[in-house]
Amino acid sequence: MTNKSTPPQAAAASEGRPLHFIEQIITKDLGEGKVKRVVTRFPPEPNGYLHIGHAKSICLNFELAEAFGGVCNLRFDDTNPAREEQEYVDAIKADVAWLGFHWDGEVKYSSDYFDTFYDWAVALVGAGKAYVCDLSAQQASEYRGWATRPGRDSPNRGRSVEENLDLLARMKAGEFDEGSRTLRAKIDMASPNMHLRDPVLYRIRKESHHQTGDKWCIYPSYDFAHGQGDAIEGVSHSICTLEFADHRPLYDWFIDNLPVPSRPRQYEFARLELNYTVTSKRKLKQLVDEGHVGGWDDPRMPTLSGMRRRGYTPAAVRRFCDMIGVTRAASTVDIGTLEYAVRDDLNEQAPRAMCVLDPLKVVVGNFPAGEVEHMTQPAHPQRQAMGQRRLPFTREIFIDRADFNEDSGLSRKKFKRLVPGEWVRLRGAYVIRADDVIKNTAGEILEIRASLVPGTVGANPPEGVRPRGVIHWVSASHSIDCEVRLYDRLFTDEAPDAGEKNFLDALNPHSLTVLSGCRGEQGLAGAAGGDHFQFEREGYFCVDGKLSGEGGLVFNRTIGLKEGR
Ligand code: ATP
Ligand code: MG
Repeated sequence: MTNKSTPPQAAAASEGRPLHFIEQIITKDLGEGKVKRVVTRFPPEPNGYLHIGHAKSICLNFELAEAFGGVCNLRFDDTNPAREEQEYVDAIKADVAWLGFHWDGEVKYSSDYFDTFYDWAVALVGAGKAYVCDLSAQQASEYRGWATRPGRDSPNRGRSVEENLDLLARMKAGEFDEGSRTLRAKIDMASPNMHLRDPVLYRIRKESHHQTGDKWCIYPSYDFAHGQGDAIEGVSHSICTLEFADHRPLYDWFIDNLPVPSRPRQYEFARLELNYTVTSKRKLKQLVDEGHVGGWDDPRMPTLSGMRRRGYTPAAVRRFCDMIGVTRAASTVDIGTLEYAVRDDLNEQAPRAMCVLDPLKVVVGNFPAGEVEHMTQPAHPQRQAMGQRRLPFTREIFIDRADFNEDSGLSRKKFKRLVPGEWVRLRGAYVIRADDVIKNTAGEILEIRASLVPGTVGANPPEGVRPRGVIHWVSASHSIDCEVRLYDRLFTDEAPDAGEKNFLDALNPHSLTVLSGCRGEQGLAGAAGGDHFQFEREGYFCVDGKLSGEGGLVFNRTIGLKEGR
């Protein structure tokens, strides 16, 4: 992680890596005096929630600004009111802040500059470099040709400046229907780069906009807004993903042909692709809209809000983004890398607790009924400062059903838990022996009758008593009832949306398992939404702030203890 006082060289060195290509470019630009101050921006379109791919772009832009003593803007690229909403604006701001980044000054919007963009469009028309075109979208696309075949001029390409100015003003005034006219740049209909074949600058959209209300009925295209917004904000390095490489000549054309106050440059890097994951806002929206998940923040979603609710930490997400690096070579990252970062951070941070997911009652016959003995355990094995937790021990306790097996012939190596006639250690408490199994008429195990070995709390058992292993437990009376939600991958296919595949076909029907009637140690009663725990032997869990409440606590399993769970 870098900060203001760490030059990038040192930052890279502390991470044990060479400078990546954008750091090299910036170092050179600063060295040659081409750039005085590094300004970057993160430019989301508010048409969905941010996902893990966006996190890479956020980390890159904000960390570069920090490392080079510059600033990073948060600018909403809000040029398409039809797909955008305030809800997304709010969620995106919350997600960027959650990652721990601070944008420079106020949040910015492309729509802040709509007046300037319009003035510049008028200036282009005045210079004979833009015209109003009457082709329909379909006609325009036919006229555009294709990569190997030059396009044809629009019949309106030769319109006079006066007529174009008049038509543009009337477009703005709302005189024409949606789709009936566009403003286009006059560049080159034969260019091998399709983006230079008289691209659209303005389209008619009779939609209310979440920031500008009903002020406008024409809206600039992405291309006519993005670079100009960069120039207005003094962005020095405009970093985007590789699919925009083809747009760069157009980006530069606008900068060359408009009276912009500064000269930003665009650089492209490879977008993050994760296996078992889709990172297209359109597809994520489809999952939400069609009810395949509970919402954008469903803990199975690769959105930042979903991962937060699941229990991923900002430190883990940032660490992951550092681990995968920045290159121009497209590649798919294994989801295990992200999971590693999450597990590693939670191992450091999360206090330990015991929670029995599938409770089986054990009655300790030689412990007096009604009595409570307080055991203690460290909240975290390495972090003494986190203190101790109290674990009440009582005659009736719960262990996990999976920690008992009736077959006492199971080898000690294979089954390091409780079997009839043998011993097991209860974590932080006594060694107990299973004496008897009580069943109902259907043969289901109702409870275990056991006895404790006196003097075994924090001490080795006497000669001849050989516990098979250590298991977790809670007091039956001094524990809380809770719900636990286990998650598996949302998709069973490593590349759910590759090629012609329909990503919905790869949805995992077992991605969510809800366990009710789980029993957590007493101290968990005070937990609040977002609190992390390692439930011993089970994994890392996080209190679901949305689902927990009057009815009790709901824990999401963030991730298992070991790889592959
Ligand atoms: P969509 O999937 O809907 O096309 P988008 O990528 O266009 O989403 P934007 O809101 O335009 O979404 O993205 C904001 C910024 O995040 C852009 O600079 C974009 O390049 C970057 N970004 C988006 N997806 C990724 C990704 N998978 N990896 C890295 N950066 C990304
Ligand atoms: Mg985009």
